[in-house]
Amino acid sequence: MQSKITRRAVVKSGLLASAIVPALGLIGNTASAAADLPALDPKDSAAVALGFINDSAKVDAAANPTHTADQKCANCEQYQGKPSDARGGCVLFPGKSVPAAGWCKVWRKKA
Ligand code: SF4
Repeated sequence: MQSKITRRAVVKSGLLASAIVPALGLIGNTASAAADLPALDPKDSAAVALGFINDSAKVDAAANPTHTADQKCANCEQYQGKPSDARGGCVLFPGKSVPAAGWCKVWRKKA
């Protein structure tokens, strides 16, 4: 049996491959880049505004009465790292990483 491959099909598959391969590269780079992002400075104005702290265990309970000990960046829906990562990106602080043990006032449980 002889399959019929047209020139058009070859060109189409080449174009598709040239579109997909760079996209896959971007996905890989995004994952590794998140771990390499500079740490968010808790003194950064945006971090201060959201009450960001590197260690959720040290949150001022009086100032944050809804905070509970289990609330951490690692289980926040804005966290871009894996729960097992030491650090990860945060949607609210683009270009920076936050520690898995961190916390801020907009913490919301990851679904
Ligand atoms: S939004 Fe979530 S992941 Fe980002 S700093 Fe606040 S608690 Fe951490």
